[in-house]
Amino acid sequence: MFDTFNLLGNPGTWAEVPAGPGARPFPAAVESGSDRALVTPDQAFAAALERARTLGPPPPGPGPLDAFRSETTEWLARVPEPPLYPRADDPARARAAELLAEGIGLLGRGWALQQAARLEDADLPLVRAVQAHAEALAATTEGRIVQAEEAWARASLLERDSRTRRRAWVREDELERPVWDAKRRLSRYDPRPAPTVRARIACAHPGCRAEQEVSFPPTYALHGFTCVRCRQPFSAYLAESREVRSLSASFGRRLSFRLEPLGGGASRVEFDNGSPESFHAARGDLLAFLYTEGPVLRGVTNLSSARTLWRRRSGPCWIATQAYGEAAPELDVLRTWRDDVLLPTRMGRVAVACYDRCSPTMVRWLEHRPRTRAWVRRGLDALVRRIA
Ligand SMILES: [Zn+2]
Repeated sequence: MFDTFNLLGNPGTWAEVPAGPGARPFPAAVESGSDRALVTPDQAFAAALERARTLGPPPPGPGPLDAFRSETTEWLARVPEPPLYPRADDPARARAAELLAEGIGLLGRGWALQQAARLEDADLPLVRAVQAHAEALAATTEGRIVQAEEAWARASLLERDSRTRRRAWVREDELERPVWDAKRRLSRYDPRPAPTVRARIACAHPGCRAEQEVSFPPTYALHGFTCVRCRQPFSAYLAESREVRSLSASFGRRLSFRLEPLGGGASRVEFDNGSPESFHAARGDLLAFLYTEGPVLRGVTNLSSARTLWRRRSGPCWIATQAYGEAAPELDVLRTWRDDVLLPTRMGRVAVACYDRCSPTMVRWLEHRPRTRAWVRRGLDALVRRIA
């Protein structure tokens, strides 16, 4: 059938094709004279293939894959088990048709990513899980419960496979243990040691950011570490993602997280970021919020996809930006110095306000004076060396 996905002519560009309520992707529903959508699995796959063709190759960067992962995981969380008995008026059938329309859109995007060789190995079971769920949903709309069950069971296994393959952390008590481990002389039923989680996280200090392997018990959320490279303390707040909202703003982006911290409960983290970069996390992904003393939030890592968003302080640093260029590490040092050293004091706030007021004029004046600009940069270099 469409299990392998090859040789699409992909002429168009990547744009979401909306499946509005007026769209009739399934002619069978119309032909059968029923007002209820009735879709065979083959029709669903054909519609997804058509969608993949229309979409064409995805735009560059990790964005399309990250968005596919998080939207897919969110959709998978909403797909219910097939109903137990076939009933003509079962509301589960109408619900299945709605979810199927979304699933076809996702499957189309997954296939388009696969065709463009933009999936990682660990993502293949995720795409196949969407396909198996689409099959289960289509069979549900037809009232073919046995086929729906069988496809649903396959989909659940694939889902679990994709979850464990993708994540950058291991929970030791989830590892398989034999009934009797002759080497360690332990049986499966002996009391187990307290569980630990192993993960790779980065040092929170802006000048360091060294990646390191850490381990901690999953029974509480806030854990302190000492960096293996710079020897400074930093901490990580570990929580499962429930919902991530990302609003664009004049200064960059405001990110807001609803979380379930390790150890239970509910919490929220919200911060402003001085760059337009977005952050993706699916429901259930394990996130590490990285703090230096203060506490000052420096960044957040999605341990399930191994991607980190480093927080950039909002607000312009006019003269320094002109001297060093956007995204220079010196800017981070200067911004951190402004936020942590200058802004907490009265004199510092006055100095920053003066700087902000006069610097646009300075920047315009410096624009046509490269020699003076080089001189300003030497002065800033000396400042950066002193405060770094
Ligand atoms: Zn460090």
